[in-house]
Amino acid sequence: SLEESIASIRGEGEAMRRSLRTDSLTQLCSRAFVIRILENSLANALASGRALAVVMADLDHFKRINDNHGHLIGDRILEDVARRMESGARTTDVLGRYGGEEFILIFDNTTLETASALAERIRARVAADPVQKGAINLQVTLSLGVAEARSGDTVESLLTRADSALYAAKNAGRNCVRTETEVGELQMPAPGD
Ligand code: GH3
Ligand code: MG
Ligand code: MG
Repeated sequence: SLEESIASIRGEGEAMRRSLRTDSLTQLCSRAFVIRILENSLANALASGRALAVVMADLDHFKRINDNHGHLIGDRILEDVARRMESGARTTDVLGRYGGEEFILIFDNTTLETASALAERIRARVAADPVQKGAINLQVTLSLGVAEARSGDTVESLLTRADSALYAAKNAGRNCVRTETEVGELQMPAPGD
């Protein structure tokens, strides 16, 4: 009937919207959705004077894992890392897949100091035990960069500072957390460094 058709189209529309909000590999928030959430959170934080922190996280030497074990194992590891990151975050924190092997966390109502402690907890969760996939046993680690919103920030300026902090963590040897206050004078790490 016409009513059934309309209901079915509505259902498809809802499923489509859900799929746009979700990263299909990890089931985390998609990049587009997490940016929309961050736009809202940033506007609210700046208007209310509440703290807001973001974390950019990137898997260490992930290319090696793909090269040595193949893309399918790489994908399974991304799923595992997503679950471990979730287990280290609070239920109210927003966790998304920002790109290939990059993740983003939004910590609403949270200072740089607290966000840094949470990032450290997440780092430790991921590094705690090797990820096991059949006969393969792999040590996987994350580098994380933390930034806190300040007045005048845009999503872009805030994420740029989190990204600089992430590069500082990579430069410091990986498997660690750095905040925007620990960036200093830096060069971009050489590829595969
Ligand atoms: P670094 O510690 O500096 O981050 O080194 P890296 O090897 O992780 O960094 P690089 O950016 O050179 O490589 C990222 C790799 O992540 C390259 C690509 O093969 C892999 N990758 C990105 N997205 C996916 C994905 O969806 N699945 C799999 N299996 N691999 C992915
Ligand atoms: Mg990367
Ligand atoms: Mg990487």
